[in-house]
Order: sequence, then structure tokens, then C-alpha cells
Amino acid sequence: MTITYEYEDALYVNLTNRCNCNCEFCLRHGKAQGSIYTEDSLWLEHEPSRQEAMDSFLSRDVCSYREIVFCGYGEPTYRLDDILWLVDQLKARFGDKLPPVRINTNGHANLILGRDVCPELKGRIDTVSISLNAVTAREYVALCHPVQGEAAYQAMLDFARECKQYVPHVILTIVDKDKSPEEIQTCKDIAQKLGVTLRIRSFIDS
Ligand code: SF4
Repeated sequence: MTITYEYEDALYVNLTNRCNCNCEFCLRHGKAQGSIYTEDSLWLEHEPSRQEAMDSFLSRDVCSYREIVFCGYGEPTYRLDDILWLVDQLKARFGDKLPPVRINTNGHANLILGRDVCPELKGRIDTVSISLNAVTAREYVALCHPVQGEAAYQAMLDFARECKQYVPHVILTIVDKDKSPEEIQTCKDIAQKLGVTLRIRSFIDS
């Protein structure tokens, strides 16, 4: 099974396959050959322990990467405590040489973990990249199917706003597919209102 993998000069970390959403575009639905995102190995036999994850890091030249990205083939913040433990260990070992650390998330950590985790990110996480995906709660539910329903949309926006206090770079992302120019403009307005960056990603047809 694949715990860490290289993608575009960054080191990606896959600690969980759990997710509270079931997005229409989720790469986990992919069937195409030849993409890391459709490799069976990203389906974990078991969630790696902290030590298994650390061993996977240390089997690599950690400081040679452009960035470390906790991503998952699932929602990584289910393992947030373990992510922060790993970052602390890596920072203790590599200090300033450690590449910047990013979490790619659906922004539901506070809902999932039942506490406000944003302060815990300070000094540990350099970038939080949050999937915005839709311009209304109703569209969000239709696209992402969060188990928490429409409340998940506002929770995601609140998470982005609060992360700004603790994390240097907070990014909202949308996939360009099926987005009208008007919707993209609305996404830009949402990001501006929250004081965060909007990144428009290309759809990966997996
Ligand atoms: S939040 Fe991410 S992992 Fe979860 S279903 Fe959506 S795209 Fe897939």
C-alpha cells in the first residue's frame, strides 16, 4: 500500500481513506489506467500507524521535495492528530530544512473531530487548501454529498476564515469543469470576502 508518493516534485502523504463526503468528481471513483490517483495501492490495507508513516517518510530524502502534502485518498483531517504529530517529529529532525507543509482538505475538520482544530495548525502547517466546490449550500450537497448535509458548506467557509488566523496560506479551490464564468466570479467574491486565495484547478478525468 502507498503511504507516501511523489507527484510534481512534492511528497504526498496518504493516511486515510475515510471521508464524510462522496463527491461526484472524487478521484476515488476513477478507473483510468496510468494515474497515481487511480492506483489500487492508494486504497490502504489499513490506516498506517504513526510509526509506519514516519518510516515511509524516512525512507525518502524528505528535504529534497518542494512541499509535503497531506492529501489522502480520503479526507486527511480524520488523522489530524497524527498529521500534527508527524509534522512535529519532522520539524524536530529536519528543522528549517523541512519543506513547507500543506493539507488538502474538504474543510470539515471541526465537524469531523468535534472541536476547533484551527489553533493547532499554527507553526505546523504552512498551507491549507480547501475545496470550495460550489457557490451555494444546496449545490454543495448535490455535488459533494456530505453526511452533515447543508451545514457542511458553512462549516467549510468558517474553517477557511478561521484558518487565516493561524496558517500563512489559505486557499480555496474549485474545479473548472462545469463552472460558468458567473459561478467562477462568485467563487472569487467568496474568497475575497474571506480574505483567502482562490485557485481554479483543472479537472483530472480519472
Ligand atoms: S472530499 Fe475529497 S476524498 Fe472526500 S469524496 Fe470529496 S473529493 Fe473524495
